[in-house]
Amino acid sequence: MTGDEIRDSFLDFFRERGHTVVPSAPLVPEDDPSLLFVNAGMVQFKQVFLGKDTRPYRRAVDSQKCLRISGKHNDLEQVGRDTYHHTFFEMLGNWSFGDYYKREAIAWAWELLTRVWKLPKDRLWATVHTTDDEAEQLWREITDVGRDRILRFDAENFWEMGDTGPCGPCSEIHIDRGAAACDRRDDPAHVCRVNAGCARYIEIWNLVFIQYNRDESGKLSDLPAKHVDTGMGFERLAAVMQNVASNYDVDVLRGIIASVERLAKKTYGRAPDDDVSMRVICDHARAVTFLIADGVLPSNEGRGYVLRRLLRRAARHGKLLGLAKPFLHEVVGAVVHAMGRPYPEIVAQHARIADAVREEEERFAATLDRGLALLATEVKRAKAERASALPGEVAFRLYDTFGFPLDLTEDILVGEGLTVEIAGFERAMEEQRARGRGAQRFTDAAVAPDARGLESRFVGDRVAQYESEIVGLFSSEQREPFGEGAEVDVVTAETPFYAESGGQVGDRGWIESLDGSMAFEVLDTQKIAQGVIAHKGTVRRGRLRRGERVRLRIDAARREASRLNHSATHLVHAALRHHLGSHVKQAGSLVTPDRLRFDFNHGKPVGDETMREIEDEVNGRIRANLEVSTEEMPYRQALEKGALAFFGEKYGATVTVVRMGDYSTELCGGTHVARTGDIGVFKVRGEAGVAAGVRRLEAVTGEGALELIRRHEALLHEIAALVRAPEDEAAAKLEKLLAQQRELEKRIAELQGKLAGGAAPDLLADARRVDGATIVATRVEGLDDKGLRELADRLRDRIKSGVVVLGSAQGERALLLAAVTKDLTGRYHAGNIIKQLAPLVGGGGGGRPDFAQAGGKDPARLDAALAAAYELLGAGSR
Ligand SMILES: [Zn+2]
Ligand SMILES: [Zn+2]
Repeated sequence: MTGDEIRDSFLDFFRERGHTVVPSAPLVPEDDPSLLFVNAGMVQFKQVFLGKDTRPYRRAVDSQKCLRISGKHNDLEQVGRDTYHHTFFEMLGNWSFGDYYKREAIAWAWELLTRVWKLPKDRLWATVHTTDDEAEQLWREITDVGRDRILRFDAENFWEMGDTGPCGPCSEIHIDRGAAACDRRDDPAHVCRVNAGCARYIEIWNLVFIQYNRDESGKLSDLPAKHVDTGMGFERLAAVMQNVASNYDVDVLRGIIASVERLAKKTYGRAPDDDVSMRVICDHARAVTFLIADGVLPSNEGRGYVLRRLLRRAARHGKLLGLAKPFLHEVVGAVVHAMGRPYPEIVAQHARIADAVREEEERFAATLDRGLALLATEVKRAKAERASALPGEVAFRLYDTFGFPLDLTEDILVGEGLTVEIAGFERAMEEQRARGRGAQRFTDAAVAPDARGLESRFVGDRVAQYESEIVGLFSSEQREPFGEGAEVDVVTAETPFYAESGGQVGDRGWIESLDGSMAFEVLDTQKIAQGVIAHKGTVRRGRLRRGERVRLRIDAARREASRLNHSATHLVHAALRHHLGSHVKQAGSLVTPDRLRFDFNHGKPVGDETMREIEDEVNGRIRANLEVSTEEMPYRQALEKGALAFFGEKYGATVTVVRMGDYSTELCGGTHVARTGDIGVFKVRGEAGVAAGVRRLEAVTGEGALELIRRHEALLHEIAALVRAPEDEAAAKLEKLLAQQRELEKRIAELQGKLAGGAAPDLLADARRVDGATIVATRVEGLDDKGLRELADRLRDRIKSGVVVLGSAQGERALLLAAVTKDLTGRYHAGNIIKQLAPLVGGGGGGRPDFAQAGGKDPARLDAALAAAYELLGAGSR
């Protein structure tokens, strides 16, 4: 069975038993701030178990997306190194909310595993809690699990939600994978058995019976309603069902690894180191795809930092595989392909996810090589000094300057036999925090320990070049004088560089000495304290000296692009409020030279038509070429004049009010165009939800918009060339081709039906007679499902009164089908016939009294199944 079929058959099995199939909850818990990510199926039902919420159904079944990763730095280590740790995984579960209880939960679990999925009973074990006589009794009474295979455990078989609250005993089903699977055979203290911590016995399904409430004093009392909560790890189950060596060999994951193989031009299973990298990329690509689909974006804290760590670890493993360019956004495509059917949200957001991944890959690529070079030098030094650990300050520098998460550095060092001196790392981190707090105090008390007496004035957003004096130099690593390669924060008395603010990124550019002997490349500009702007970057030539006169030159094209994008956010803000209502407020924005993002509070999708009106309105105001004016005034006065305040900005006593004609008035310290016409053109790229009640609009302006149009034009050109039609007619031509394809498919099916009809007399040669009924059970090859169904219909018509059973091998798959003529449905039941035969070919299924079919994974046993059909229908001997 494929992964999709396993998932479907689980959901179908419980749907047929009165369960509502509910969609997976998002990975980000909707109403549980205590939890970083949804890590089990029960999370979305927690409030129901606590009695604080209800659902319109009492039985549910689902396949839940889960992510297990803590905030701690080193828990990623195992993922990829072995073959069974994952960050992202799926959890299958069925639930009873005060409805059925232990008897049904146990009976159904056993039926599904042993009768539908045909797992060998002699390899299954059941465990129950030491006090749970009821569960043990049920296992004996309603299942045929081996009498000596029901074991009692204490802590392993008791489940609690937390220190207090709902809890209860659980019953687990373990599978024995054979003595060879034990990975602790060399350990003399190891006794190989269930729950002994080796790879031979693995838990596949946990049935939790929630029957108690634990109060503050630790006392248990019975709950008014009893619940069932079960969980089965999908990847592990699929590995067992597909009889493959590891979770990563399951078809769903193997398809993703195959895409990495193609990109890296390497083969999985050849070199252990490459295998580790491929597994890491496979796992992380899944996690990353689903995290972004559920609204997380890379950042430096919380959930966003977890995402960033995963992305950067995967990027580095790509480097190990020899992938020079960003690649992970392409692996995202393989994830969408492998998992898009059960999780359509990743299909719908494919482009957005790939964009976000690519952006982060490119961002990290800028520092990855430099960081790796530094690390290589430091590793050489540590080895020369025979040290066992890399100094914590070095790890911190990699973290702070090159964006290496600590676990990434550790991951690289494992290969060198080195660790990180964690205490030193934490000390350096603490020192940086203290500096941050110092800067904060400076804001409050006008005293800065680091930047005391420093002040730098932004000379305004119309100035691209300016001369000033270096008044402060800061570096966490080096001391003065700062020579070539040194990374330094430079503060000058005045600067034309815009410091990151209000979502607009900081400027880049150059600081040079007047005689040209020194050049410093500015990679970012940040406010490090109130009134202190730092140019962050690297000395490229000569030496930096305090007191020196320098020329500051911004990257004007980059600033200009940011300026256009930022200015457009003012128009967007006004247009959104105009069309959606004054409840719309900016909830964040990010402006880069390439694009603008605008997050705003709004409860539902904007809709294509409204979005087009908004786009039209913004472009209308651009063409109106409104004058943009800025004016300084007291904060209170600005608000009285109706200026909108930007989200997350701190305003001083005096603020800058930015007006675009009469259309928009906002408080803003950003960089703006002189007239709205400078923006050129505004094009929305998309709109989507990013969090509850928050929507995100992405757009491009100016040259960015032109570039987008050109890209689309090239794409259309390519499509037109492929379908050999002029561009205007490409869509019509494509439609025609698709219609032709459908027509051809239909004709193939018809021809198959005819072929099958022609074969009918031969097939009936094998027919037998039982009490006036004609029974035929025979094998047919070369037909697809539909052809086989048509053939069964024809044969049924021909025999007039009787039963037709057909078997067909289709590659790895066996297909069985039974049809009963209407007059005999009282005597024979097609669904029941199939139910009994399907297990013989390793499958399951059922159906109506007159028609039923089933698939199986063992085509070699088809003949045996067809022989059994004659037996079953009383036509065993002629
Ligand atoms: Zn063992
Ligand atoms: Zn602005």
